[in-house]
Amino acid sequence: MYRWKWMLFGAVLICGPIAQAQKPNDARVVLVMTDGMRWQEIFRGADESLLTKERYYDGRSVDGLRQKYLAGTAEERRRRLMPFLWGTFIPQGQIYGDRDAGSDASVTNGFNFSYPGYNETLTGHGDPRIDSNDDKPNPNVTVLEWLNRQPELKGKVAAFGAWETISNIVNAERCDCVVNVGYRPMEIHPMTAKMDLLNEVKANSPRFWDDESFDAPTFYTAMEYIREKKPRVVFLSLGETDDWAHAGNYGEYLESAHRVDGYLKQLWEELQSMPEYKGKTSMIFMVDHGRGAAPEEWRSHGQKIPESKYIFMGFVGSGVPARGLRTNVPAVKQSQAAATLAKYLGLDWNAEEKQAGRPVADAIK
Ligand SMILES: [Zn+2]
Repeated sequence: MYRWKWMLFGAVLICGPIAQAQKPNDARVVLVMTDGMRWQEIFRGADESLLTKERYYDGRSVDGLRQKYLAGTAEERRRRLMPFLWGTFIPQGQIYGDRDAGSDASVTNGFNFSYPGYNETLTGHGDPRIDSNDDKPNPNVTVLEWLNRQPELKGKVAAFGAWETISNIVNAERCDCVVNVGYRPMEIHPMTAKMDLLNEVKANSPRFWDDESFDAPTFYTAMEYIREKKPRVVFLSLGETDDWAHAGNYGEYLESAHRVDGYLKQLWEELQSMPEYKGKTSMIFMVDHGRGAAPEEWRSHGQKIPESKYIFMGFVGSGVPARGLRTNVPAVKQSQAAATLAKYLGLDWNAEEKQAGRPVADAIK
């Protein structure tokens, strides 16, 4: 009885309309995230009240950092902290999340910490099951995994994370995409001298954080992979901004943000020097969660710090209209990132993942 019913159902399925297969365009996309960086420093620059020697290495002088990062206006301070972001990325692209200028960007997952934030970014929706940072495989299919299933993109999706857990967040095993995290060596074929050296540096560096490397080896591993293998989709997750803030080291938090800006510059300039990427690459720069306010809660984030839901989301590149700093615009959500990323490749993530937020329409040409 039941068997017949199912056979009938099967027949209807077979005779029904076949879903239109999606085909990507010729674009490339890069998603860069720097863990737990506050919107406040992005848009206001360094906070003078926090840049004190009590919030640096064991009371080391911050005179040099104050000289480097402080200035009379928010515009000048943010330019000093992130010169590439403000000098090139934003003028050529756009950014959301300046709450001083009527632009909100926020997470929707309700947790305001890392795994839920990366999951929301990469799937387009929060998930109540993902309520910890436990290093477990993501039950959800991310947009990266889905892209890697497209025949045209198979093997051309790569993810790099300073934090070990990034591997499970993208579900490396099921995704079958290229993944390198933490201190793990990266093998490519043929192997290059640079990659060899990077692997040796990782193997012989002190484990300052047991599950996370500094950003530099992660960034240079990603760069070398991009040069050699020219992936179509790249996810780069950096972690120092979060760790230094938790440690209460505001000076190094600023320095790591400044280094991230340098990485964005190098990455963008190298991409524009390669024919595989020049003029056909879009880049997203954003964050998994925000943090609390000065003088204490800036160090932390989570459900107990509601304002840590506020983030920033920036877009630049061939698929992005140049609208600069967005002011007085409707709020955008972290859940919109996955569909926006897919849209740059001409693909509709919402057709695949019904729960996902819609693309940020203003950020797409
Ligand atoms: Zn954190």
